[in-house]
Amino acid sequence: MDSERIIRVERDILGKNNAIAADNRTLFAADELLVFNLMSSPGAGKTSLLVRAVSELKLSYPTGVIGGDQQTSNDAERIRAVGVPAIQVNTGKGCHLDAAMIGEAYRRLPRLTHGILFIENVGNLVCPAAFDLGEACKIVVLSMTEGEDKPLKYPDMFAASSLMVINKIDLASLLECDLDKTVGYARRANPKIEVVTVSARTGEGFGALYTWIDRQVAHQRRAVEGAGQ
Ligand code: MG
Ligand code: ZN
Repeated sequence: MDSERIIRVERDILGKNNAIAADNRTLFAADELLVFNLMSSPGAGKTSLLVRAVSELKLSYPTGVIGGDQQTSNDAERIRAVGVPAIQVNTGKGCHLDAAMIGEAYRRLPRLTHGILFIENVGNLVCPAAFDLGEACKIVVLSMTEGEDKPLKYPDMFAASSLMVINKIDLASLLECDLDKTVGYARRANPKIEVVTVSARTGEGFGALYTWIDRQVAHQRRAVEGAGQ
């Protein structure tokens, strides 16, 4: 295929995806559901972070998870083990979740009215940034073990995200990774990106993450009330 044709095909795929994402957004709004799309490289600790977060957030909000991996339902099983409903999507050869997969998986979850849905995307710092799933915000998870230059190498991912969660902060003293540099590089791609540092292993920093989530919930409820007036 010549490059013009490739660009056209890409545009068609994204256009179709965006239309389905808009339908998802309408569906989520009807349920007053807040949806976060978590993205990272493989091994950054998205699932460990979610296991801890949902086991605490479920006390305050109806909570559910849709997870994407090429194969296995290991992640969904880990979420269900803490009493939170989870649907696993297997993408096969696919390297990202798309809006149609989310729409279909969401219909298989119990109703989460006034709740929170976390989408755990396929571990990949490239194309998940381009696919709108109908979420309220994208969250990028980066671990201390990855080195500080990921935001320089994959700027689109950081530009698309509202929040960067830096995980494995308990390992900071053992590693060369420079936290200030990581944050500085992420803000080159996105000056408005917010940052929390956590350890999914020890629980350090989760208070700040919940404060951020509560703020998004309050923001969404204000928007709903505003629209109703
Ligand atoms: Mg995972
Ligand atoms: Zn992909």
